[in-house]
Amino acid sequence: MRPSSLNLLFCQIESLKGVGSKIAKRYQTLCGTYVVDLLHHLPSGVNHRPIIKDFNVVRTGDLGTLCIEIDEHIVPANRRQPYRVMGHCGTQNVELVFFNYHKDYLVSSLPVGETRWVSGKLEKSFGRIKLLHPDYMARSIDIIPEYETVYPLTAGLTSKMISKTICSVLNMLPDLPEWLDAEFIKKQGWPSWKQAMIEAHHPKSSEDLSPFSPARARLAYDELLANQLALLLARTKMKRKKGFSVQGNGELSHKLLDMLPFELTSAQKRVIQEIKTDAGEPYKMLRLVQGDVGSGKTIVALLAMLNAIECGHQAVFMAPTDILARQHFATLSKYCEPLGIRVEILSGREKGKKRTQILTDLQAGHIQILVGTHAVFVEDVQYQTLGLVVIDEQHKFGVGQRLALTQKQPGVDLLVMTATPIPRTLALTNYGDMDMSKLDEKPAGRKPIETRVLSAKKMDELIQKIHHLSVAENRQIYWVCPLVEESEKSDLTAAIERYDVLRQTFGDKVGLVHGKMKSAEKDEVMDRFASGELSVLVSTTVIEVGVDVPNATVMVIEHAERFGLSQLHQLRGRIGRGSADSTCLLVYGTQLSETARKRLQVMRESADGFIIAEEDLKLRGAGEVLGTRQSGFMQFQMADLADHSDLLWTATKEAKMILNTDSALNNDRGTALKTVLYLFKKDMEINTLKSG
Ligand code: ADP
Ligand code: MG
Repeated sequence: MRPSSLNLLFCQIESLKGVGSKIAKRYQTLCGTYVVDLLHHLPSGVNHRPIIKDFNVVRTGDLGTLCIEIDEHIVPANRRQPYRVMGHCGTQNVELVFFNYHKDYLVSSLPVGETRWVSGKLEKSFGRIKLLHPDYMARSIDIIPEYETVYPLTAGLTSKMISKTICSVLNMLPDLPEWLDAEFIKKQGWPSWKQAMIEAHHPKSSEDLSPFSPARARLAYDELLANQLALLLARTKMKRKKGFSVQGNGELSHKLLDMLPFELTSAQKRVIQEIKTDAGEPYKMLRLVQGDVGSGKTIVALLAMLNAIECGHQAVFMAPTDILARQHFATLSKYCEPLGIRVEILSGREKGKKRTQILTDLQAGHIQILVGTHAVFVEDVQYQTLGLVVIDEQHKFGVGQRLALTQKQPGVDLLVMTATPIPRTLALTNYGDMDMSKLDEKPAGRKPIETRVLSAKKMDELIQKIHHLSVAENRQIYWVCPLVEESEKSDLTAAIERYDVLRQTFGDKVGLVHGKMKSAEKDEVMDRFASGELSVLVSTTVIEVGVDVPNATVMVIEHAERFGLSQLHQLRGRIGRGSADSTCLLVYGTQLSETARKRLQVMRESADGFIIAEEDLKLRGAGEVLGTRQSGFMQFQMADLADHSDLLWTATKEAKMILNTDSALNNDRGTALKTVLYLFKKDMEINTLKSG
């Protein structure tokens, strides 16, 4: 149960005075539904409106507040001219200028002979102080804030409105029990949570807005601590879940290894050992394998599955898309057939009789490995003895989804494989509940990919060169078309246009795939490319993950500056898989910003996905890395991983210490910590903990 001290914070914003349903909708877009979401929406700036005492130091553009005595209203002859109100402040002449005005309103609010406080942007002109449409006109100075908080906005909300609503909440803010260690707070010089909230929403200078100000740092730390605690709680809970001890006799894996035309890399051997040790423990395995594209994750996954199969279990291999599922199916079938293992595929495309047959055989245990999309987890899919779930290329699941997925299959080991190297900080905040294995070595004999950066102005030349490569050297080419304004429709147009242009040179040796095609159509084009019938494959980013065509050795990426570094790295990983030299051409549009230039340089200079991921984080900030918004990566409201990585490490250490001391959070501090968990909506993790 949520502590009652948080009742106010978990009221809907709509229930606040002065917020109707229309405004509440705008808040929904801006920050969320609850009052706590509003509090976590921190200011982006501050306006200072000092009371002007000395007019000599005023410069045009300054904000200021002054008290004037009104002398005269000058009503214009027509609506095109401004309405002017003349006044003075001591010996200083002041002029208020209005273009859009209600005459009656001005007459009544600025009566001649009386004094009024006015505030706004000041302009100095021929010894006069002018205010064009003052921001405030008031009888009393009390109405006019000296410091005005500026918030990130959405349509239909102003900083003034947000400030007013937030201030009304701050006035009622409860005292929450302190969840941080007293010594630690003292050392950091941080305020209490309540005080930090108040200060964070009342900045008085740019220092107050800095992520390192005491108030902001404290709030960021609270958020990070809550996140890390929740991950560890989830993990403890999962780990306590009884699982099977899966220790194969090695019969199948030895057969497979004998069959392979290559030797495993030492990284592959190490990771497989880590997996086997983990699977052998009598609890649930939760392991993430990070391995750059081409590092050989498929074999690792297969060996993990064989280990389970040797114990009489079934395994599921889940891919994010149909194309990938099919490709994995083909690869795994090839390896498994000689081992006498039955592999089947189940995606949205297996229907009717075929599907029924697969389901029957699966339940009877005649199928050892089921490959598929999320279709492998719909209600009516029943396994005989599912022992291992492998999820490939997933950065589409959040912690919550991962929990949900594994809860449906209690006790089953989970192996997640990602080809997107994750910066350490992101790995910590998103996968803190999992054990990690790293495939940090590429199979030997891989030739480095040459990466070149060139301007789109040289497009004609480029096409000729590519054509030459395809004809003279029989090379195959991926051609990736740009992201246009993040809209799929315009992406498509760009890809189709490029396809048409390339056809003029390549004739019917060009194929086109895009996200709007039916999977069968896509597969057909991909097959023609894989078989060598097509020389060029034009695509939107659908080929991003997984596709394996060793003869494709050239990758052209148009408007490379619009892609994230990790995405570029993924794309580039599609080539360099065979024995021939490979080239990646990053084509940029007309204008390159400084950051864009740096990013393309990183691509040219580094081939290491982990380095690239770290650079990406530095250059773009956590919110954008890997397109996190779409990918289900954790988004923080107040912490920023680029700024607060030190705090993250501290929070992680602290969370571990807390749970080592009292894993159930049963002491006094534990009660306070539960409050902060609820504050950041980690209820689900808490509830999972309870139910076990
Ligand atoms: P990814 O990690 O990108 O999923 P894959 O598992 O698809 O990589 O492997 C890429 C290619 O490398 C495949 O053709 C695979 O057969 C090959 N491969 C895997 N391991 C090795 C190895 N140890 N030595 C040589 N080639 C390997
Ligand atoms: Mg793969």
